[in-house]
Amino acid sequence: MMNKNLVLMVVLLVSCQSEYAESIDLTAYLKDHVKILASDEYEGRATGTEGETLAANYIMEQFNTLSLVPCGDRKGFVQSFPILENELDPFNSFLSVENTRFKYGTDIIRIGGGGTFKAQRLNSGLIVVNGITDTLTPAEKVLIKNSIVLYNPPSEKGKLTMDARRFMFILAGYGPASILVATDKDESKWQQYKPESNLKTTQQAAWPMWLDNKKETTHISFFEVNEQVLNQVGLRRSDGNQFNILRLDTKIEVDVNTRPTRLIFGKNIVGYIAGTDLSLARQPIIVSAHYDGLGVSTFQNLEDRVHNGADDNASGVAALIEIARMFAGSKPRHPIIFLATSGEEKGLWGSNYFINKFPLPMLQPIANINIDMIGTHYRDGSMYIIGQHELEELNVFDDSRLKLLSDHAFELDFPKEHMYYRSDQINFVEQNIPAVLMTSSGLPDHYHEINDEYAVIDFDHLNDATHSVYQFLLKIDRGQLNLTFKRPVEAIIRNWHLAADDPS
Ligand SMILES: [Zn+2]
Repeated sequence: MMNKNLVLMVVLLVSCQSEYAESIDLTAYLKDHVKILASDEYEGRATGTEGETLAANYIMEQFNTLSLVPCGDRKGFVQSFPILENELDPFNSFLSVENTRFKYGTDIIRIGGGGTFKAQRLNSGLIVVNGITDTLTPAEKVLIKNSIVLYNPPSEKGKLTMDARRFMFILAGYGPASILVATDKDESKWQQYKPESNLKTTQQAAWPMWLDNKKETTHISFFEVNEQVLNQVGLRRSDGNQFNILRLDTKIEVDVNTRPTRLIFGKNIVGYIAGTDLSLARQPIIVSAHYDGLGVSTFQNLEDRVHNGADDNASGVAALIEIARMFAGSKPRHPIIFLATSGEEKGLWGSNYFINKFPLPMLQPIANINIDMIGTHYRDGSMYIIGQHELEELNVFDDSRLKLLSDHAFELDFPKEHMYYRSDQINFVEQNIPAVLMTSSGLPDHYHEINDEYAVIDFDHLNDATHSVYQFLLKIDRGQLNLTFKRPVEAIIRNWHLAADDPS
């Protein structure tokens, strides 16, 4: 048995160290990180771009200064993952309705700067969906499956409403071949599109070591079509004000051609701090935050075109670095792996690669805590533990710096957003590693918009949020908090694949 005084001393030492860590004001550090990562120079940190490399270098420098042990490729901090770049050929892409041909870039254009599309030549009859509804009947769901869907949302000058957007992704969840959205843009807005912009896209490249672990992913192509296409089908914009689904015998063909252009690489940045308890050496805790962003907007006429991604997710990366600083000062018992992922916005690619390369079951991570969008808050400034509802009771939330609420609370404000499936944590869940997302921003107006920049961040909140994540991790590290799934992960993953998800 260990000497009682020694136990006491250790306890005191540990608590002093953590109290010290908990009292630090991180605001100045956090400001520096966000200012740099979200600067225009970093061009929105899109995966596979120069901006991503700048951000990767910055994070590596920080990890290095904090003496993290590199555990990427070849004993460096970088773990590269392959990406295939594609280019759409606008001159060989078109839409035809009956015998009328519509041109790419003038009448039809791909929606979203990210995501994936593939060449498709479909000739399957046409399903028209007008308006929005809460529930689709089973027969309606069957109609949508594998069809080309022309979606005519309620009329709203110039842009899709949040509800229409959400409904569009619900439709996507029922497996259509393609969704054509008839938007309300006037002629001048269509003029802003340049056929030569918005053509490049990327997809996760197959990689030999993944072959036995490759899940079938569906790629749904979203296109925007103009009013002429709607008229050709015999519809009017105002039909979208009321919900119905029609099956038309209209002959329709979407022929969008892409060709692979080159193989590029995305970069995860990964390092760890060794634990003090050797018996726990094979049970690391993984803390993650994605550092990639949406890059530069393809709209040429905007004054500011950089998606700086200050809240999403320079805030989370800043916290990741500062949490590493706190653990570097007061050593954890478990090894803690700090993972800054890329490719998240493209479809959780970096974390998918990381976890498929991870030496499971040699190492059995006990938890993944993923941090995404903690630079702002809504309502009373709480933090949300998304994924808590999939875990056995966690009842240690009273002493956290910020109030911690479950995803049930989050879903009251943002129903059907499926946040648990929308960031890197879900790739850990799939490998049976209990994982949660810590977030606080909700879905603010700046979410995925050009104005998600330094000025929107509330640094007092970010400081508190960073401490709250740290406190949460400390509890896991000390064994005061065990993350355990309530049900088999297969059931969770099945829901994930069923959920309508935002491909951009
Ligand atoms: Zn994010």
